[in-house]
Formats: sequence, structure tokens, C-alpha cells
Amino acid sequence: MSIDVKNITKSFNGFAALKDVSVDIPTGELIALLGPSGCGKTTLLRIIAGLETPDSGSIRFHGEDTTRRAVRERKVGFVFQHYALFKHMTVFENIAFGLKVRPRSTRPGKAEISTKVHELIRLVQLEGMAHRFPSQLSGGQRQRVALARALAVEPKVLLLDEPFGALDARVRQELRRWLRRLHDELHITSVFVTHDQEEALEVADRVVIMNQGRVEQAGTPEEVYDRPATPFVYNFLGNVNLFHGRVHDGHVQLGQMELSAPEHAALPDQPAVGYVRPHDLEIERCYADSSSVEAVIRHIHSIGPIVRVELERGDTFESLDAELTRDVYQKLALKVGETVFVRARKFRVFVDDYQ
Ligand code: ADP
Ligand code: MG
Repeated sequence: MSIDVKNITKSFNGFAALKDVSVDIPTGELIALLGPSGCGKTTLLRIIAGLETPDSGSIRFHGEDTTRRAVRERKVGFVFQHYALFKHMTVFENIAFGLKVRPRSTRPGKAEISTKVHELIRLVQLEGMAHRFPSQLSGGQRQRVALARALAVEPKVLLLDEPFGALDARVRQELRRWLRRLHDELHITSVFVTHDQEEALEVADRVVIMNQGRVEQAGTPEEVYDRPATPFVYNFLGNVNLFHGRVHDGHVQLGQMELSAPEHAALPDQPAVGYVRPHDLEIERCYADSSSVEAVIRHIHSIGPIVRVELERGDTFESLDAELTRDVYQKLALKVGETVFVRARKFRVFVDDYQ
């Protein structure tokens, strides 16, 4: 089931929560909606589900307009952050619930429900726990019950709203890998909401990055991480060093650093900012050319496989963060207080109209 979200807008008492949002979700993909709290992720998910009606725009399921269809006609399964399991029901009863409340004509028989629930219990790896109550399970186990319950009704679309948000970091990591494997097995078109960059980049086939009710960029995890379309995406997906300066005579001059950014060569003089990830900053012992800048090492964090070096630029006294592999760090034999030269191996320049 493909989902086509087109030009959706939604306001709450005059506040625009979604502003012309369009997203294409191909059949069988796992899409992450990623963005800071309040950017409209839940609202968009609820509109896809049919729990909320948009002010304008349309939702198509497999080409068919479902914008004004009822929730139950959309064949969606939900999992929310706060596992809404029935406390007085066992794992088995919770998972079976959606099947038991079906209208008589489509309700499976008792034996069929039992087979199906046990299949789901196996799928979410909760064998032997069918008769436990939610209070006898860990947070991660409860979320797997919630997922099994959503899957029981054989949804065509699975919607997950920060499903692991309330769990601790270790369990979250385990569950996100598990969800990815489950998706690879079932291939149900899924929309996964999260505000956690790492979670989105690790789990999803494609990531839709939202900010203040708009889509900033959509693409594979590699695309959005390696080629951020906007300063917001750059900042949101990881640490970044900013080099303030100008486009000037077809060059980009950022303090003493001169970069060649061909895409800006034809632009008139104007403010520009260079964005460089810490692992794309190279440290050299000698001055090579004008694309590097002098800096003093202020601090070295050398624990773990990646060594983080904090520097202070000689031209503007702004701080820079560099990340080196341990090998490179040892070869350079860096020490606090030394003067070195810093160069961007990879960078992106945004001119002022983006700021
Ligand atoms: P997210 O899930 O990304 O944190 P939401 O979609 O929940 O964001 O909310 C987006 C914005 O819309 C927020 O500013 C929120 O306060 C507002 N909002 C969401 N639902 C309602 C509602 N039912 N009534 C009023 N404002 C709402
Ligand atoms: Mg939300």
C-alpha cells in the first residue's frame, strides 16, 4: 500500500501546525518522520491515520483518495509512545483484542484466533509470556506486545509514533534493530515518528525531516546525512562547524579560509556560511594553501575509537571541533597548546537567503 500525502495544511486555533506538506511513501517502505518536538510529526501521522482531518490537501492510499474516510476503513495499525495495553488483560488477550471485536461476519473463530496470536507472539519474540499481564513485563516487552496487537488485524499500513521514546537507550537500540528486521520480514508500509536522528538514520529506508510544519528534506539516510539540503538539516543531523564569511568575486571567503564552491561562483557578493562536520575537518602540521586556517589545540578527548579535538581558530578565535580516527591522531602526535592548520575535506556553503 503506497501513501501519497499531498499539500496538507492544518491549523489549530490559527496556529499552522502543517504548512503544505507533501510526502511520497512507496509500498513496503519504512519511512521515518524526523524533527524536533512540536514540528508537526504527530499531527501528520494522525492525518494519515484518519484521526484528524486536514484543512486542505489530500491523502491517497494506493491511488485512492482516503482524506475523508473513517479510520477503520484505512486498515492502519498504530503503536504509540505510551503503550496503551489493557492492564487487566494478558499478553494473549491484548493481542487477540482487535480480532475479537470485529463484526461477526469477519471475526475469525476461536481456534483461528489462537493460532494467529501464538504466531504473533513468536514473531515479536515473547514466547512463553502469553499469560503474563502487562505489569509483569519490561517496557521493551510491552512495546512488542503493542506492536503484535497492531499487526494482529493485518494492517496495510503501520503507524508508529515515537514507539520507543519512553524506553532507556540500550533497550531502544535493541528494539530499533529488531523493528528493522521485522519490517524486512513483513514489508508492511510503515511510518515511524521520532525526534532521534540516530534512530531515524538507522531504521528507515527514507527519512523525512520536518521543521516548523514543513518538510525540509526527504531522502535516504545517506542522502540527507551526506547532502543536507538546508542549514536546518545540517544542524539537526549532527555536530557541525560554522565558518561565517562572504561570497566574494566567485570565491567563498570564510575568515582566512578560501573555499571554492562552484555552485556559488556566479552569485553576487553576499554573506555566506560554510558548514563542515567534525569528521570532515583535517588537521595538518604545516601550512599548505589558502584553503586552510591556523588554529590552536585547546583540548583533546582521546577516549574511544574516535578522538575529538577542540581547536580555536587563529583568525576569528571561534572554536572548532574535529574528529580523528585514533590512527590519524597518533600519527600526528597532537598536543594541547600546539598550533596546527585545519582544512575542510568536505563542506557545504549556504548563502544568506537560507539563514
Ligand atoms: P510533534 O509530534 O512533532 O511534536 P505535534 O504534531 O504534536 O508535533 O504538534 C505540532 C504543533 O501543533 C504543536 O505546536 C502543538 O502544540 C500543536 N497542536 C497539535 N495538536 C493540537 C491540538 N489538538 N490543539 C491545538 N494545538 C495542537
Ligand atoms: Mg509527537
